[in-house]
Amino acid sequence: MKTTEKYQVLLYYNYVHIEDPETFAAEHLQFCNELELKGRILVAHEGMNGTVSGTVEQTNKYMEAMHNDPMFADMVFKIDEADGHAFKKMHVRPRPELVTLRLEDDVNPKETTGQYLSPQEFYEAMQDEDTVVLDARNDYEYDLGHFRGAIRPDIETFRDLPKWVKENKEKIEGKRILTYCTGGIRCEKFSGWLVKEGFEDVGQLHGGIVTYGKDEEVQGQLWDGQLYVFDERIAVPVNRKEHVIVGKDYFDGQPCERYVNCANPECNRQMLCSEENEHKYMRGCSHDCRVSPRNMYVEEHNLSEEEIETRLKRIELENETNA
Ligand SMILES: [Zn+2]
Repeated sequence: MKTTEKYQVLLYYNYVHIEDPETFAAEHLQFCNELELKGRILVAHEGMNGTVSGTVEQTNKYMEAMHNDPMFADMVFKIDEADGHAFKKMHVRPRPELVTLRLEDDVNPKETTGQYLSPQEFYEAMQDEDTVVLDARNDYEYDLGHFRGAIRPDIETFRDLPKWVKENKEKIEGKRILTYCTGGIRCEKFSGWLVKEGFEDVGQLHGGIVTYGKDEEVQGQLWDGQLYVFDERIAVPVNRKEHVIVGKDYFDGQPCERYVNCANPECNRQMLCSEENEHKYMRGCSHDCRVSPRNMYVEEHNLSEEEIETRLKRIELENETNA
């Protein structure tokens, strides 16, 4: 019988010039497959960004090999322990950019970027009155967890952030601006863009929320909720001193940290939703998604026409009472 092996999830990026991303990606995929890693890696002219999982032995070999390559000698790996793989497959994909901000001129974080703040420095700076904390992630990431008091830019995706800043200048002008994201890669560019736009005092959380949560001194303090991650774990804890739930159920607004995707594959909307409401609403974010002929919940649970009708009626009745 096989003993339970320990796994690790690695999160990492490096802004470094890669001459031929296509070839690099193909060769790197082969290398990862040889090590039997699983995960998702993006490769662009401006560098690489990845999350991979594997046994402790496999992931250690990977880190060693990367550090032996002069291009990645100083790459920082954020390491999480895990019970198994965090992905089903291994992908390495060439991309035009590592992170997409719709910019006229791209920002090279090697040349222009915000001041790097350690977890301790960030923790202290956050509590200063003249500081605004700006979340540099997508709305669904913010909704699961964020720094207490951080601004949630009203955007669906990261690439709309520059536009949001231009339209909401008064919210951040004249203040010290702190930005943060999952592992730090988005902030390198975004904070650099802020500096280029003329904001003078811009700081970024070095190593991102992941590093902040592991820091022995701050222990994730002032973080509320959980951290959204782009692998099968979906949510991981950050604050080791207290756990305040900020996520709200899509249907009834009750505290919730459970993400599901709308059962209509054409919609696929991510929503926080309790198990009870998942059944009640047939995992559909709207009436249209519930009655969609492709609703996967209906298929998974083998619901009869009659059962679907009963549930729709129940939802309708409830909406009438609440109206
Ligand atoms: Zn939907």
